[in-house]
Amino acid sequence: MKKVDVPFIYSPLYSELDLPPRHRYPIEKYRLLKDWAVKHGATNNQWHQPEPLSWEQVARTHCPGYLSQLRQNSMDKSSWRRIGFPWSEQLLYRTLTSAGGTLLTTELALTKGVAIHFSGGYHHAHKDWGSGFCLLNDLAIACNEILVRHPKLKIVVLDTDVHQGDGTATLFENDNRVFTCSIHGERNFPFSKASSNLDIPLAKHTSDKEYLAALENTLERINREIKPDLILYDAGVDIYQRDELGHLNISLAGIFQRDLTVLRFAKRHKTPLAAVIGGGYQRNLPRLVRAHAQLLRASYYVYTENKLTEG
Ligand SMILES: [Zn+2]
Repeated sequence: MKKVDVPFIYSPLYSELDLPPRHRYPIEKYRLLKDWAVKHGATNNQWHQPEPLSWEQVARTHCPGYLSQLRQNSMDKSSWRRIGFPWSEQLLYRTLTSAGGTLLTTELALTKGVAIHFSGGYHHAHKDWGSGFCLLNDLAIACNEILVRHPKLKIVVLDTDVHQGDGTATLFENDNRVFTCSIHGERNFPFSKASSNLDIPLAKHTSDKEYLAALENTLERINREIKPDLILYDAGVDIYQRDELGHLNISLAGIFQRDLTVLRFAKRHKTPLAAVIGGGYQRNLPRLVRAHAQLLRASYYVYTENKLTEG
């Protein structure tokens, strides 16, 4: 088996955001996941640091009026409540850097076969509005940028975060170059669902066995109907049974199996895979980080002869 040093894309800015006390968003998880990777055997040559995108790049995906409202902090209070973060320069810079990270991850996946972004998955951002902690849709921005450079690529966005990728679905609803697929909790945010090209809604308390069967079916269908040249994979861990917003009953071993299944599928079909860590909401940060770390473990199983140390 050919050994690949799986590229890990990370910026210290990801955990640098001042939020009100007890804010729902686990801003520390990015730094802690990076620490986990270093502690468990990630090597120096795996790390890549992204640059922030320009507002011009972002304007390929989002409406200029919305972007100028973001930059000038001129949106009304209810729009900011829907996003869930207080406005700051720091927030904008972090958001542009994270979008740059997803683009860099996608570029590295095209050359190396696989890459993992230690942020990303802001899939509730629409063309001219944000919601659910999402201002800019990094997945859509990366697709649009990559398509400028490689116009013939067939891209699948495979979103397994527990929340439906509604922003990504609407951004590509009239664009058949990108196939959007979302496997998500049926009775969960966003309560008004968009239409992805393929939606797999799951009942509350769905178990590992049902979940993995649904995933296998979805991957078979993607292979049969699309045969993508690139997969953007949102590996949100809010499917976890310990997640505070998820409502599914997926174990830690189930998360590992999900990630392993997707990565093996990509490798088997020689399809470049760019993964983002997506959502995950627990006050217990070590447990949350351990859930996100399953993606890193799976990447070593599939792409590298070495293994990350367990624990
Ligand atoms: Zn989510």
